[in-house]
Amino acid sequence: MSTMIVVNLPVQSAAALAVVMLATLCGTAAGQAFAGREKLRAHSNEFRQEVIRVTDGVYVAVGYSASNVILIQGDSGSIIVDTGSNPQEAREARAAFGNLLGGPVRAIIYTHGHPDHTGGATVFAGNDNPDIYSHQLLVEGAPDIVRGRRDGGDQFGMRLPDALYINAGIQLQYGRVTPPTREGYVPPTRTFSGDQLSLTLAGVRLQLLHTPGETRENIAVWLPDKRVLMPGDDFYRAFPNLSPIRGTRLRPPEVWIASLDKMRDLGAESLVPGHMRPVMGADSARTALAEIAHKRSVGEGPLLFGDAGTPGLPSTVGAPEAIGADLEKRH
Ligand SMILES: [Zn+2]
Repeated sequence: MSTMIVVNLPVQSAAALAVVMLATLCGTAAGQAFAGREKLRAHSNEFRQEVIRVTDGVYVAVGYSASNVILIQGDSGSIIVDTGSNPQEAREARAAFGNLLGGPVRAIIYTHGHPDHTGGATVFAGNDNPDIYSHQLLVEGAPDIVRGRRDGGDQFGMRLPDALYINAGIQLQYGRVTPPTREGYVPPTRTFSGDQLSLTLAGVRLQLLHTPGETRENIAVWLPDKRVLMPGDDFYRAFPNLSPIRGTRLRPPEVWIASLDKMRDLGAESLVPGHMRPVMGADSARTALAEIAHKRSVGEGPLLFGDAGTPGLPSTVGAPEAIGADLEKRH
């Protein structure tokens, strides 16, 4: 086996990958005995289904799909940030919002183009004909997932038997219940290039900030009046997935860190990521962004991504044990 991932952080997507890879490739008791298994099992609690009130007029549906769906209430309708993976799961999220989703959907915002964020748009668009916003790089970029069918299945554990499956690290599952589909995708109708776009939708002031990290086109959605930051997939309660085994482009750490710093400077009072539960409180939000950005430099410690076969990826990416401890504490 030429690919090896060794991880000792308690809660993170790389741990999920390691479990998936070991279980898939080994299928043995040794694979199942991987030390992080029980912690990963406890981590599934992160994805329990709930509509969480972030602040007045902002709600997030966690656990209904692989990614979160965020609802912003305006005075003449609603704004949706990310839409879930497919129409079936989007319908579940929509139903969970219930009466909170009042009036027409005026706009849908894609934080980035990954299928788990863009695959449920038809459900939220309905007959409301909303504008669909994204960064221009979402529509003009070349396809990023070059080995999706082959290695994406492994990355998300799609083919693992139930007895071996725990969760997919930053989501409970992707592609296991409903096979990947693009039938719920609606292409963006309004895009912007450059650093940012300021706009008012349904009476709500928003800024869309270009914050490349997990993807080149990732944007953060910032509500200056409510001090809510939606960073897309640039932040999750996990070590950044710098080199996914499904063969996406390397995600340069220095670019990602610059985006995290930009977001931290906003002074958010809540952080509502694309996966997992929100981080509430200004201190927690600032600390969370700072820790992910600045404790993950190369060569500092025991987090190891082995040779994942990606040109340009250091054979060892280190991070201090403190990250793991801090993540565990916050959990
Ligand atoms: Zn995502």
